[in-house]
Amino acid sequence: MLEIKDLYVRYGMIEAIKGISFEVRDGEIVTLIGSNGAGKTTTMHAISGLLKPASGSIMLDGVELTKTPNHKIVSMGLAQVPEGRRVFADLTVEENLDMGAFMLKDDALIKRKKEEMFDFFPILGQRKKQKSRSLSGGEQQMLAVARALMSSPRLLLLDEPGLGLAPLIVQEIFSKIKLINKEDKVTVFVVEQNARLALKSSDDGYVMENGVIVLHDEAQALLKNQKVRAAYLGE
Ligand code: ATP
Repeated sequence: MLEIKDLYVRYGMIEAIKGISFEVRDGEIVTLIGSNGAGKTTTMHAISGLLKPASGSIMLDGVELTKTPNHKIVSMGLAQVPEGRRVFADLTVEENLDMGAFMLKDDALIKRKKEEMFDFFPILGQRKKQKSRSLSGGEQQMLAVARALMSSPRLLLLDEPGLGLAPLIVQEIFSKIKLINKEDKVTVFVVEQNARLALKSSDDGYVMENGVIVLHDEAQALLKNQKVRAAYLGE
């Protein structure tokens, strides 16, 4: 579904991504792990069109995303949950979901999608008239995911969904991500520092260091890999 080939991304003189290649197959959950500054967020931003790569190719279902205008990328079925749960703090939970549905023109469909989200994340239903700033960190992350799901994406990009959250909440978020993947058939590409939980929930994994991919294997194999265990699982 998503195929990245020989991608380079620069910030001025700084080469943040140095020729990476990887793929996310239809129906999978794929995780990219790496330490601070490895280039994970830069990779995400290149895929979602926020950053223009210096060179290389990003194909979504055979369409070159680097040549596709940003507004079209969402309509191609790609949605991103950015790092840091950027919900609209002064808008209510329900208004945030409306923002995620900006592409949909059909009011009945928007209403139905919102009801689906309130069923899937009951806490958001209970808080729907509440301003988002008053939600807990975990609830805001659920809202950020729900907002992305409003556009019915086929590919969901998640940038560090566990950042700054208690382990139990991170676990809950990953179990929701697995459900979204299995039941709604949404393919997921996730960047995460909490490598153990992310790999446990994934089919495939890539390890990134200093802007290059240094390891790729099935997620379960990476969990057993000595190098990964020492560097990313604190063993
Ligand atoms: P973290 O886990 O800490 O978020 P990351 O793996 O997501 O790290 P990136 O944020 O992609 O890493 O950063 C990759 C490299 O690019 C780092 O060396 C970083 O300092 C650099 N970088 C990121 N954003 C910019 C920017 N706007 N201008 C210049 N350099 C940047």
